[in-house]
Amino acid sequence: MYEYTDKIISTMNKRFIRIMDRLKRRLASIDEISALLTESEQTIAELDYITRNMLLKAAKKAYKDNGGRLDTIDEMWLNAYLNGLSPVTKYSYANEVDRKRSRFFETLAASDKDPKELKPALRLWSHMAGEYALEVTDLAVLQAYMENGVEKVRWITEMDGRECSECASRDDMIYLIHNVPPKPHWGCRCILVPEQ
Ligand SMILES: [Zn+2]
Repeated sequence: MYEYTDKIISTMNKRFIRIMDRLKRRLASIDEISALLTESEQTIAELDYITRNMLLKAAKKAYKDNGGRLDTIDEMWLNAYLNGLSPVTKYSYANEVDRKRSRFFETLAASDKDPKELKPALRLWSHMAGEYALEVTDLAVLQAYMENGVEKVRWITEMDGRECSECASRDDMIYLIHNVPPKPHWGCRCILVPEQ
């Protein structure tokens, strides 16, 4: 279910690292606060751009692979999800990006452009992007199911020895497709399959 999404996540992470490395090299030559502001805003804009593009790719592929035949999955579809409140992260991606944008600049300015400060920011961004890649994949799969008339789905828990008790208790449960409970935690890799 998540093979392609995992590839997307790994590609995103590589690109995030490149962007941060480039910023690291530039930091030394930035001496005005206004230039630092521009630079940090551009960095977040680039991370956001890549993330949105890659999330859309993951969602489109998940939709097609699960029988989606329409053009339902597009930028508007993605934006609607990213502007709304995620039941898993408990925030809206779009708002969080705004928060990260100001926080990133403040951190760099307060730490006197210390490149070490880039690492935690990079980690948090990757963590967020990875979670949303799973979420939009799930959403696209459900969309494809619904368009194909699926009414019920079976929850299959990823039993990898690390599953939480909530996920374990849902294994094999059947839900109406419009009534599937949200994933209980970040990084949940449980899947939903059509139930005949
Ligand atoms: Zn789970």
